[in-house]
Amino acid sequence: MRIAPSNLMRTLLSFTLPLITHRVACAAPIELSCQSRDPATGRIALTVERVEPAHVGVVVVDVWNFHWCKTATMRVDAFVPRMNKALDAARSLGMTVMLCPSDVVDNYVGYPQREKVLALPKFPVPDVVDVTCPSVPDAGGCACGRERCAVNYGWDGMHPELRIGDEDLMPDTREEVYALCKTRGLTHLIYAGFHTQVCLLGKSMGLKAMKSAGLRCLLARDMTDAHPGYDPARGFTPDLNTAQVIEHFEKYLAPTISFQEELAKLGKWNPEWVVDPVRITPWGARMRPHLFEQPITVTLTTPLQADAEIRYTLDGSKPAANSTLYSEPLVFKDSARLLAAAFRQGRPVCLESEGVFVRMGPQPPAPDVYLGDLKPIRSVGFGHSYGGVVRYSGNTQAPQPDHSNLGQPLRINRQTYPRGMGMHAPCELVYELKPEWRRFVGLAGADENVVNASNGSNLAKYPSVVFKVFIDGSEAAASPVMRVQEQAWRFDVTIPAGARIISLAVTDAGDGSREDFADWANAGFVVN
Ligand SMILES: [Zn+2]
Repeated sequence: MRIAPSNLMRTLLSFTLPLITHRVACAAPIELSCQSRDPATGRIALTVERVEPAHVGVVVVDVWNFHWCKTATMRVDAFVPRMNKALDAARSLGMTVMLCPSDVVDNYVGYPQREKVLALPKFPVPDVVDVTCPSVPDAGGCACGRERCAVNYGWDGMHPELRIGDEDLMPDTREEVYALCKTRGLTHLIYAGFHTQVCLLGKSMGLKAMKSAGLRCLLARDMTDAHPGYDPARGFTPDLNTAQVIEHFEKYLAPTISFQEELAKLGKWNPEWVVDPVRITPWGARMRPHLFEQPITVTLTTPLQADAEIRYTLDGSKPAANSTLYSEPLVFKDSARLLAAAFRQGRPVCLESEGVFVRMGPQPPAPDVYLGDLKPIRSVGFGHSYGGVVRYSGNTQAPQPDHSNLGQPLRINRQTYPRGMGMHAPCELVYELKPEWRRFVGLAGADENVVNASNGSNLAKYPSVVFKVFIDGSEAAASPVMRVQEQAWRFDVTIPAGARIISLAVTDAGDGSREDFADWANAGFVVN
């Protein structure tokens, strides 16, 4: 990267003027310890940057509520407690916090943080720094290992627990960030957010664009995560990927700071705070479990807590300082619920994290008697009964034989099925059992027609259902939480002799029923 001297001078002048006119009282300068690297040798160089907090903007990019990769979703979630502490401290120092959710910024219409930005005067944005560098290490984007995420689940907002400050701002473009810098006299931008080498770097309000406009840009290396990848066979983890990307930034793009260390120097970060969950890769959660068939390798890390001891349990008990010590990746052959925490000299230094891994059973046989050919004694869907008439909610209808609830082909995980029942949760089908029916068999999953629109980017995050089979009122089998793009859950349930009634229930998984279209496919009864 090169800086043309005349342009640099122009930029300095352009930032000096508003600095004087708009910020009369400024806090004392702070000294940021900036880390960069020699592009050839990788050797670290430390420099000190003096700046008044009032001239600093913190640009927080794409802290979304959801992502198409479930491990990436959980890794963003893992940063939120740290970000909340750090951004509160930045606000209290008088820094300008900019929350930039890019793709979904329009879901913040009416927020004063957004409206204030729309009302800013326009300034021509100069191009004063040529920002070029070799291509950034890109790991490919899904950190789930062999069971790769394939469908765009979309996102529709920032993480629900990311605090939005009253004085924060939500710019979306290079022009908007520049206008904020001009009107507030900001000279330095500290970047944080996701994913480091994609949005945080390349979006319109990203580091590259603002650096080229002459702003002094820094990367908070403890508040960012790269677009992850995971290949345990060669020891490649999302944390390693992030470390490589940060190193690339330090060599070619921008110095980094440890936000935590800077705040600690200023008495704004309490070293006793425990804010980082142990990272789990791949990271299935209760509401989005990791389904697998072949044994999986699970890696635990504490990228921001060097030399912490990771302890874990697999029996549901709370991990403690004397729980099993994690020393190498774990191989799970069967379903597991992992709880992990980390300690230093017996003191917890990480928040507890949970990983949910569910092993699929064997493929069931095709039924002899298909559900679609039977008359249920009870068939209820998502509706409201009055006077014996069900009024189905929204565009849903009663369970449909051999079609999705909306009349499309039954479709689970990119496969269509000619036979089955198309439902919308909460719903239930009840059948009287015949003595010759020995097993209930079938596949079950979230109906995937939702991805027809825009590859799912607006709706695919919503479907979440649990399938349950009751025989004479007792639960005989249940799926984990099922979402779009997951392999169909496999039911093969023995029917005890003398059993009278079977109920096939689909619940909303406890998180509301929006878009909870669900399919039973190839489902029915095996006759002896
Ligand atoms: Zn993934």
